[in-house]
Amino acid sequence: MVILMLGAQGTGKGTVAGILSKKTGWPQVSTGDIFRKNIAEETDLGIEANKYIAAGNLVPDDITIPMVISRLNEKDAQEGVILDGFPRTVEQAEKLDEILKTQNKKVDLVINLTTPREEIITRILNRRVCSNQNCKATYNLTMHPPKKEGICDNCGFKLIQREDDSNEESIKNRLNIYNKITSPLVEYYKQKNVLTTQEVSEVINHLGQDVAEEVYNEYIKK
Ligand code: ADP
Ligand code: ZN
Repeated sequence: MVILMLGAQGTGKGTVAGILSKKTGWPQVSTGDIFRKNIAEETDLGIEANKYIAAGNLVPDDITIPMVISRLNEKDAQEGVILDGFPRTVEQAEKLDEILKTQNKKVDLVINLTTPREEIITRILNRRVCSNQNCKATYNLTMHPPKKEGICDNCGFKLIQREDDSNEESIKNRLNIYNKITSPLVEYYKQKNVLTTQEVSEVINHLGQDVAEEVYNEYIKK
C-alpha cells in the first residue's frame, strides 16, 4: 500500500507517519530526513541540497526525484511505504504516478492534515528534533516535551532545533511555498478519490496520535 502524507509544515505529518510506520512495519520515507542525513554526512547531494533547504526553498527535481526513485526501489519498501514530504508539487505527483505505474502500483491513500495557522507557527518554533540521524524523534517543548530537558527519550542524544525552524523568514517562506505550490495536491488527490482530510489541533484536542489511530483503523487495518 502506498500512503502519502500531505499538509503544511508543523501539522504533524512526521508524527502520524512514524506511528503508522510502526503499526504497519512499512518504512516512513521522509525526503526532508534523507536530505538532513546527507547534510550531516556532508555528501555531495547534501551540500547541494542545503543551499536550498537553509533558505526554506524546495530542492530542485533533478536532485529530489532520483533520490526518491532509488529509495522506493529498496527491498523494504515493496509491500508498503509511507511517503512524508514527497510529492510537494503537481509535477512531482505526476512523476510519482509514473514511477508507481511501472511497478503496477498506485497511490492508495493520502492523509491530508490541517491546522490553524497561528498554531502552526508556534509549533514549528517549539519543535525540537533528536540529533541522532538514526533516531530522528521529534518533540514539542509545550505539547510533547522530552522527559529530560534537551535530551531524547529514545536514545539519549541531544535535541536540537533545525536550522530552518529557528528562522522566522524561512518558516514563512516554507508556508508560502506550501500554500502556492503544494496545496493544489489536495485537489489532485481528491479527484482520484484517495484523500482523507484530518484536522490536527490542540483547540479541538485532536492530535497526530489520534489521527494515526483513526486512519489506521478506518483505512489501513486488514
Ligand atoms: P518541512 O515540512 O518542515 O519543510 P521537511 O523535513 O519535510 O520539513 O523538509 C525540509 C526541506 O527539505 C524543505 O524545506 C525543502 O527544502 C526540502 N524538501 C523536502 N522534501 C522535498 C521535496 N519533495 N521537494 C523539494 N524539496 C524538498
Ligand atoms: Zn533520539
